[in-house]
Amino acid sequence: MIYLDSNATTQPAPEVVEAMLPFLREYWVNPSSAYQGARVVRKAVETARETVAQWLGAEADEVVFTSCGTESINAAHDSVRALWPERRRLIVGATEHAAVLESGVRWARQGGEVVVLPVDRNGVVDLGVLKELLREPTALVSVMWANNETGVIAPMREIVDLAHAAGALVHTDAVQAVGKMEVNVQAVPVDFLSLSGHKVHAAKGVGALFVSRRARFQPLLVGGGQEHGQRSGTENVAGIVGLGVAAQLMRELGGAAVCELRDRFEVIVRDRLPDTVVNGEAVARLGSTSSMTFPGVEAAGMLILLDKAGVACAAGSACHAAALHPSPVLEAMGLDAAHAGSTLRFSFSRYSTMDEVALAANAVVKGVEKMRALHGEGLVALPAKVGV
Ligand code: PLP
Repeated sequence: MIYLDSNATTQPAPEVVEAMLPFLREYWVNPSSAYQGARVVRKAVETARETVAQWLGAEADEVVFTSCGTESINAAHDSVRALWPERRRLIVGATEHAAVLESGVRWARQGGEVVVLPVDRNGVVDLGVLKELLREPTALVSVMWANNETGVIAPMREIVDLAHAAGALVHTDAVQAVGKMEVNVQAVPVDFLSLSGHKVHAAKGVGALFVSRRARFQPLLVGGGQEHGQRSGTENVAGIVGLGVAAQLMRELGGAAVCELRDRFEVIVRDRLPDTVVNGEAVARLGSTSSMTFPGVEAAGMLILLDKAGVACAAGSACHAAALHPSPVLEAMGLDAAHAGSTLRFSFSRYSTMDEVALAANAVVKGVEKMRALHGEGLVALPAKVGV
């Protein structure tokens, strides 16, 4: 399989797996226990915390380990809502992941007010509108640092400056951003940041929440008081150790090599299919992600053809039962249902190779040509330039 779906999940790094195994085989005692053996386990968790903190430019006591990105997001939102009831407003970006949007729905159910910040054709949040929205007392602005479908990067520094000037806190869903671009909480002083292990070559079932020392925090999970009282529940020690190693590797390796692969892929496809639209290409975007619209070609059919050809990627639309629902991300960017339904997402990692890129690009071109031949060229007459 040629795996081009790294925004869905990443292959665990061999170094991560190696580092985790001793904590499943030998050092499996409860880190909260009093005997000597537990000290090794506790120390491993704290070492991982320091590594993750350094990666983000944070202090160790600002990192709380969780079970996933979704939990981190929910915990941040929930805490602000609980500690700051007098400020009702939550502002969320229009292209947020369901974890943020559904948490927003709960915020509204609990009596809060949720306002959606629109994005432009390139998927970038509108700072002018944000400034207007912040005229009302706002508790929290929650905008993703980089988008999972397009890779489009948000102007986080400007968002933080505007929000803080209005007395609001900032949470960012950095699940897709960390490890793929510079993410430093000193340079961009967000109050909360969520990340997920399985998107950065660590294991599933572990995530982290950065909570700035400036922000007050009330845990989502209460109980035994683990994670220095910030998140109860016996720690996923192996997962946490693996996340520490993944963070260290990400710090050392950077994302430049991955960007070369993605760029090469786009060049090959567009040379042979010149009407292909790359969504968000006019603005800053992750070097690992390519959201491509092939006018007139159904993404669902392409997924089947590519799967047969051994290429794993994703559609810009989610399939539910028999119906194809347009991607809310692409819709928010102004793509109509037909274009959104003709969009595929290819996401690369450091384990992708140039050979795979060439093979996959060839399979994509052949697939599009086949679909167009089957349906008759121009079956759906669409303008070539959208979303850029
Ligand atoms: N936020 C973004 C942007 C994501 O892409 C994802 C996962 O797809 C999540 C949040 C949720 O992360 P997790 O799967 O760790 O809960």
